[in-house]
Amino acid sequence: MHTHHCDVLILGAGPAGLAAALAAARCGRQVIILDDNPRPGGQIWRDGPRVQLPALARRYQSAVANAPNIRLLSGARLIARPSAQSVLYETAEKSGIVHWQRLILCCGARELFLPFPGWTLPGVTGAGGLQAQIKHGLTLRGERVVIAGSGPLLLAAASTVGKAGGKVVAVIEQAPRAALLRFAAGLWRWPDKLRQLCTLMPGHLHTASQVIEARGEDRLQTVLVRHAGETREIPCDRLATGYGLIPNLEPGLIFGCATLHDALRVDEQQRTSVENIFAAGECTGFGGSELALAEGEIAGYVAAERPEAARQAIARRQRWRRFARALNRTFILPDALKQVVTPQTLLCRCEDIRCGDVQDATCWQEAKLSQRCGMGACQGRSCAASARWLYGWPLPQPREPLSPARTETLIALAKSAP
Ligand SMILES: Cc1cc2nc3c(=O)[nH]c(=O)nc-3n(C[C@H](O)[C@H](O)[C@H](O)COP(=O)(O)OP(=O)(O)OC[C@H]3O[C@@H](n4cnc5c(N)ncnc54)[C@H](O)[C@@H]3O)c2cc1C
Repeated sequence: MHTHHCDVLILGAGPAGLAAALAAARCGRQVIILDDNPRPGGQIWRDGPRVQLPALARRYQSAVANAPNIRLLSGARLIARPSAQSVLYETAEKSGIVHWQRLILCCGARELFLPFPGWTLPGVTGAGGLQAQIKHGLTLRGERVVIAGSGPLLLAAASTVGKAGGKVVAVIEQAPRAALLRFAAGLWRWPDKLRQLCTLMPGHLHTASQVIEARGEDRLQTVLVRHAGETREIPCDRLATGYGLIPNLEPGLIFGCATLHDALRVDEQQRTSVENIFAAGECTGFGGSELALAEGEIAGYVAAERPEAARQAIARRQRWRRFARALNRTFILPDALKQVVTPQTLLCRCEDIRCGDVQDATCWQEAKLSQRCGMGACQGRSCAASARWLYGWPLPQPREPLSPARTETLIALAKSAP
C-alpha cells in the first residue's frame, strides 16, 4: 500500500484536469493527478497507437510531464473515500491512499445509452465507444457503419470511422432540421466551431430520425430507422449510438457534493458545496473541451489560493458557456424517444434484466434489490443512467467501493477507516 500526500489532488486527466494541474503547479503547489486511463488526455484527447493528437493536447501533456511538482498516477481507479480528505485508489499492480488539502474533481462524463430492441447485438456499440476502439487500433476496412443518437459526438465519431477505413452509410440524428439550422446559423460567434462543423458535416445526415431496432442473427445485419412515422431498413455491419453525455457524479456524491440538473453544482470559482472540494469540466455539465479547459484553470488557481490569476480563464469560460447553452438547447432529448423501449428490451446486459422486469420499481435501489439490475461486472455504469432517464427515478447515492476492487484493497480500506 502506497501513501501519498499533496496540496492539490486532481481526479481526471482530461482537458479540465490537465488545465487545473498546470494552474495549481504554476502557483508552486504539489499536485497529484489520478486517472484511470493508461495515458493522460481524457475522452477527447484519448491517446493510442492510431492517434495523432492535436498540437494543443501535446502541449498540455508535455507541460504536465515536465512540471517537477506534478505527479501523474495513470491507470488508477478511484475506489473509495477512507476519510474526508483522502482517497483510496487501485492500479493493475497496487493500491494506494492519497491525502490531500484540496481536491479538484475533473472526472468528465460518459455516454448516455437509450436501450432499444437489438441494442446488445454484436456490432452495436456506443459512438464514443467505437471511437475509443479505433483509437486503440481497430480498423474497419470498408465496413458499413450507421451512427445514431444525438449531439455533436455523432459527427466526431463519423469522422473517426472514415479515417479508420469504414464507410458511414447514415448518421441518424433525433434533433429536428430546424433546430440544427438555427444552431449552425449562430456559429459565426465561434468561428473555430463553424470551421469544424464544415469539415465534419457528413453526407448522409438524417434529422428528426431515430433507430428503433437493430436486427441480425448472430451479429448486426440491418437497422430500422423511423422518420416522420415511416420506417426503413438500412443494411450495415456496425451501429454506433449515443444520446449525449451524462456527468460522472459518483466521486462527487461520495464526498457529499450537491448536484444541480444531474451535474455537480459549482459556484463562480468552481467550488462545490463541500469545503476544499472543487469541480471542473463535464462532471459539472456538458460544454466541450474549451469550456473544460477554462473551468479547470479557474479551479486550479482558486484551489491554490490565487483567484486573481484566473481572470483570463473566467472571460474564456463566459464565451464557452454561451456555446454550451446553444448546444444543450439544440440537442435536448424529447420524451417521445422512449417509445422504442418494449418490455422485452434488455436494460442491464450484465444481469440480463429486461425493461419489463423493472417497470414497476420506484427507484434504482428497488430495481437492484428486487432484480439484481446493475449488480453485474459494470456495476450499472450504463444501465443506471438509462433507467433513470427512462423512468425518472431519483438520483441514486453510490456506494463504496465505486468499482470492483481486489481483496487487499478492500482490507486496506477497512484498516484505514477512522
Ligand atoms: C466517450 C466520449 C468520447 C468523446 N469524444 C469526443 C470527441 O471526439 N470530440 C469532442 O469534441 N468531444 C468528445 N467528447 C466530449 C469530451 O469528452 C469533452 O468535451 C472533454 O473531453 C471534457 O473534458 P473533461 O476534462 O471534463 O473530461 P474527460 O475528458 O472525460 O476526462 C475525465 C477523465 O477522468 C477519468 N475518470 C473518471 N472517473 C474516474 C475515476 N473514478 N477514477 C479515475 N479516473 C476517472 C476519465 O477516465 C477521464 O480520463 C467525448 C466524450 C465521451 C464521453
